[in-house]
Amino acid sequence: MKAQQIVPFPFVDLRAQFEPIREEIAAAVMRTLESQRFILGPEVEAFEKEIASWNGSDTAIACASGSDALLLALMALDIGPGDEVITTPFTFVATATAIIRLGATPVFVDIEPRTFNLDPGKLRAAVTARTKAIIPVHLFGLSADLDPIRALALSSGIPVIEDAAQAIGAKYRGRRVGNTGLINCFSFFPAKNLGAAGDGGLMTTNNQGLADRIRVLANHGSRAKYSYEIIGINSRLDALQAAILRVKLLHLEDWTEGRRRNAARYTKLISDLRLAEHVTLPVEPAYAYHVYNQFTIRCRRRDALRAYLSSHGIPAQVYYPHPLHLEPAFAGLGYGPHDLPESVRAAEEVLSLPVYPELPPENLEAVVEAIAEFYGTK
Ligand SMILES: *Cc1c(COP(=O)(O)O)cnc(C)c1O
Repeated sequence: MKAQQIVPFPFVDLRAQFEPIREEIAAAVMRTLESQRFILGPEVEAFEKEIASWNGSDTAIACASGSDALLLALMALDIGPGDEVITTPFTFVATATAIIRLGATPVFVDIEPRTFNLDPGKLRAAVTARTKAIIPVHLFGLSADLDPIRALALSSGIPVIEDAAQAIGAKYRGRRVGNTGLINCFSFFPAKNLGAAGDGGLMTTNNQGLADRIRVLANHGSRAKYSYEIIGINSRLDALQAAILRVKLLHLEDWTEGRRRNAARYTKLISDLRLAEHVTLPVEPAYAYHVYNQFTIRCRRRDALRAYLSSHGIPAQVYYPHPLHLEPAFAGLGYGPHDLPESVRAAEEVLSLPVYPELPPENLEAVVEAIAEFYGTK
């Protein structure tokens, strides 16, 4: 099929996910409305138990967003002014702003070009006496290489907080991410692999003391009503969102398989085009089970390719067009344009193709066809 004949289609089609489960969702919403329990309560408790067990974690604590999960994780570890937290500049902004909101300083370490994740080989040079945490991000649904990160963290006594916002269900050496760090953070933003009908987030931990502290922090610093142990925030998952997420969790494995099937199809079709000098495909290292929140290629003349695709009704997105260390909001950290060159190069070359589970096969083929046309191999 020629790319020109395709009707424009969306980058993510949440309606296609909703239609087959609308009755289940409607029943869950009605059940919650009938219960009139909107804040915490049985839906949230049940969801926390179900997702902890699904993920193989001891405890899950839900909160209002993935951004809050990162903030609460850092608060739970008492991170504040004078402290440094190591993370990647090639991520969504919330990974770094959580650190800055607490008065601490993000220390950016460059990425591995193949995986887009924190380069463990560059970590040690970034550790100082002030380093209080390392936040690897499992970008696009691919686990960071955790063993060397954990080995360094352990030998330096530094806790690891995993940003698994894009990686629910992803595995590292056979284990699901989110039970490997001291605290692990997830997001239920609608376009994540497990998405709410609005904002939502969650932390998992196998440390009961921390779990207890996070619960108190997320509920105004209060355990018993109107008694305040510590300064907290209001960050809870709405019961309505928990009820919806309980339904969706039952489908997550199928959806992940759909994403992986699409990724495998792209990999096959694009490899067959012999475009290696123009396009680099995403990798799935032996340690990883990739859940493809994004299917992200690197490509020559990225902006021209994206414009070409767009003019043929084919959506593609750039995650992320700028590494964080060069954004005006982070100018105070003092990084320059020659720092962290792999992140800078990735931001110039990446292009994410539609990979959502319900993507019609003919649309996937049209994406590949248009890429072939652009590079003149068709
Ligand atoms: C989505 C995302 C977040 C933030 O999650 P929200 O629920 O949108 O606040 C944090 N980190 C990464 C890597 C993300 O992709």
